[in-house]
Amino acid sequence: MKTYLYNKNQDQRGNHEVHVSTCSRLPITSNRVFISGFHSDCRSAIQAAKRQSGKTNFDGCYYCATACHTG
Ligand SMILES: [Zn+2]
Repeated sequence: MKTYLYNKNQDQRGNHEVHVSTCSRLPITSNRVFISGFHSDCRSAIQAAKRQSGKTNFDGCYYCATACHTG
């Protein structure tokens, strides 16, 4: 089980990029928003991020959440 976080800033496609907390490509500290709980995969983490934030625009990191990366 892993912890995840997302970038407070949206990327060029308007999405908040979701990372495993150990990713080497994390946003700078002040732009990190931790997703509550522990998750077995990025889909679970994104569901939690949606519940937590009320937003729907999340995308997985290309490097650490490939299964959830949509472009
Ligand atoms: Zn990442």
